[in-house]
Amino acid sequence: MYDILIFGAGTAGLTAAIYGVRAGRSVAVLEESVYGGQIINTLEIENYPGIKKVSGVDYATGLFEQATALGAQVLFDAPVSVEKSDVFTVTTKRGKTLEAKSLILAVGAKNRPLGVEGEEKFTGRGISYCATCDGAFFRGKDVAVVGGGNTAIDDALFLTDYCNKVYLIHRRQGFRAEEAKLALLKDKQNLEFVLDSVVETVEGEETFSGVTVKNKESGAVRHIAVDGLFVAVGQVPATAITKDLVALDDYGYIVAGEDCKTSTEGIFAAGDCRTKQIRQLVTAAADGAIAALAACEYIRK
Ligand code: NAP
Repeated sequence: MYDILIFGAGTAGLTAAIYGVRAGRSVAVLEESVYGGQIINTLEIENYPGIKKVSGVDYATGLFEQATALGAQVLFDAPVSVEKSDVFTVTTKRGKTLEAKSLILAVGAKNRPLGVEGEEKFTGRGISYCATCDGAFFRGKDVAVVGGGNTAIDDALFLTDYCNKVYLIHRRQGFRAEEAKLALLKDKQNLEFVLDSVVETVEGEETFSGVTVKNKESGAVRHIAVDGLFVAVGQVPATAITKDLVALDDYGYIVAGEDCKTSTEGIFAAGDCRTKQIRQLVTAAADGAIAALAACEYIRK
């Protein structure tokens, strides 16, 4: 019987684990793939207070080591069912049954697909969702990035250092990305903005060969020949396992306020899977702390 069982070993989940064990509670974290969550795909973090610059992988490794050294157990396994009675009973993919007095859902989000025909066929064979993971395969080649948020701009910036030419395709003129990042991109000689435009089709028979984009204002259709397409159009919450446990909003995020309390007593939500305005490393860490302390208070009752 754990005091706190956490789903997800990203920033929110591991921070919750740190706060839980430091409050004297027994804590386990279930993680389906690798620890760290989405941040492991980030080349450099420059906006985490107190750390000038760190790679996503180094940051995540530090966090994982910190949580486990303090006594949190990280189990590389996934929940498949959850039952609530006086306590929570969780069965896992590897056939384990775990019991816990409280649950923290820190399941994060995953990449949103573009939703055009052929996208799945060429995923991993020309289409990628992670420039820092796959960018090096496109050294000296022409590529395109889709999106207008921080991820798209980061990806485009990263790729301009490797690739011959980078097209940044975005569906409007304005960007969600930070001005400072955009300013850096505007200085790049091998970057072309393709704005007010959406990808209509991805092309190629056996091999991916490019995209057709349509200008939403003029209706003009343009073929852009590229070897790689990096999709960075945001995330969708990875809340499938939680849907019968707690209330979700229309977009699938777990409804919970700044106190991280969900619609179900004893279940807390932390990080990118929670309804919130700002999804950043620092807000995920903050959620982790709040959720763990709220879980401790719930157990004490
Ligand atoms: P995001 O901020 O949600 O941006 C997604 C972008 O994709 C938007 O520009 C959106 O266009 C576009 N988009 C969405 N669906 C589309 C579709 N079907 N077709 C074409 N375009 C589509 O996502 P993100 O960039 O992945 O960032 C997620 C969160 O992580 C944000 O809070 C971001 O600030 C944060 N982040 C921060 C950093 C950092 O260094 N501070 C780095 C990476 C990410 P519209 O703008 O028109 O809606």
